[in-house]
Amino acid sequence: MLLNKALTDALPVLQLLEQHGYEAVFVGGCVRDTVMERALKDVDIATSAPPDQVVTIFPHTIPTGLKHGTVTVIYEGRTYEVTTYRTESAYENFRRPVKVEYVSDLESDLLRRDFTINAMAMRADGSIIDPFGGQEDLTRGILRCVGDADARFQEDALRMVRAVRFAAEFRMRISIGTWRALRRHQGLLAHVAMERIGSEFDKMISGANPQRAAAWMAASGLLKHTKQPLPDALVRTADRKRKKMRCRTAACKRPDVSGVEGIAGLSDTDERWAALCLAIGMTHEESGELFDIIRFSSARSNRLQSVIRLHNHMGRPVIASLKRGNVEDGQLHRDWINVILQEGKSSSASWLRIMYAVPFLLDLAAMEMEKEYVPVDGQLSALLDKLSDELQSVQAASLKELAISGADVLRLLRKPAGPWLGQLLCDILRAVAFGDLPNDRNRLLQIVSDRRKCGGSGTF
Ligand code: ATP
Ligand code: MG
Repeated sequence: MLLNKALTDALPVLQLLEQHGYEAVFVGGCVRDTVMERALKDVDIATSAPPDQVVTIFPHTIPTGLKHGTVTVIYEGRTYEVTTYRTESAYENFRRPVKVEYVSDLESDLLRRDFTINAMAMRADGSIIDPFGGQEDLTRGILRCVGDADARFQEDALRMVRAVRFAAEFRMRISIGTWRALRRHQGLLAHVAMERIGSEFDKMISGANPQRAAAWMAASGLLKHTKQPLPDALVRTADRKRKKMRCRTAACKRPDVSGVEGIAGLSDTDERWAALCLAIGMTHEESGELFDIIRFSSARSNRLQSVIRLHNHMGRPVIASLKRGNVEDGQLHRDWINVILQEGKSSSASWLRIMYAVPFLLDLAAMEMEKEYVPVDGQLSALLDKLSDELQSVQAASLKELAISGADVLRLLRKPAGPWLGQLLCDILRAVAFGDLPNDRNRLLQIVSDRRKCGGSGTF
């Protein structure tokens, strides 16, 4: 097989190890993706060299996972994980091995890997080592555990979630044996740290088929067995809601999981998450609970919740406006600017991108209003274009964007600070956002000064 650019760049790392008398191969995801002619995310290398040798052979290394035999080699500005051939044993509590043992043969190393498609290696000359039929499984589109699926899932229960991720990502079927073992051992997922599960979920959502991954997760039954229970809305309501919605709205004319497949058209992973939570019918509180459980940072969770909350404010007004059939809708405009002020420009822009990609979410809002939503062709995009233009023309949506600061006002008025200052700045911000005042420093200072002269009351 021909080496692609990423592997060719990494070739000198393999060659240097070989020059020192060791074996070295590309391994895992990079070989699978090369066989599939997909772009590589990263290049992992396996070698017979023990970690202390790897560290001496390469001048720039980071001892990333020395305990497990992994050294990060920095070569020509790129990083490669170089892992000594190893076997794993003494899995404790159905997760991660407590003991790893270095071995000299590649095949033992491949044997510890999860799926046949991930247990292939490639030598420097492009030849592929594939002892478990990974290439054939790729051709046939079958995801299969290396060896005995029952044992593999009992060793590390996270592999069940990974099975779903790879099946969705590569549109593969899960082999009967692997699927049955997954169904048998799903309870073992309770032993796996939520952080590891969260990281797999995140890869599913950022992957090529997020809606398929979500459907597979629901079908697998795994969601019920996490160490920390996931929000009820996610576990139980998702399927029920979607079925109900499909037969009660215009969406029932579309096949199967229609609507949410637009999620894959969103390039931002967090916008995909927000869209998915909305499609499931989760509130921002329930979504926040989910993000906490899967260990998203609070900054990330807050950003995501803001977009979800925003939909709860805008979904109904948009439907109402569509029903009125009026793009120049003053009420909708006011709602929109208020929402932009409340949630910020960035969340508002995210919400718009989500509505363009997954208009189906408005079906949900319509359903909650007990209204059938059957928009005239082009009506929705005209309305979204209009909201988009309005967002662009908002001069300031936060105090940071305002052309004057609290310090400016205090200097100008020579008054001690107090609650009046925040109120004054908020009033100015609102007036600027609604286009009633320009976001111009001199003009705003002038207005503040004039207002003091006339007693400091009245609206802008
Ligand atoms: P991706 O392209 O999504 O990163 P990947 O196959 O490279 O997929 P990684 O999680 O980066 O997945 O792992 C690299 C390799 O390590 C896998 O291809 C597999 O051979 C092995 N591996 C990773 N996690 C496990 C696990 N839990 N059990 C067994 N083998 C694993
Ligand atoms: Mg990888």
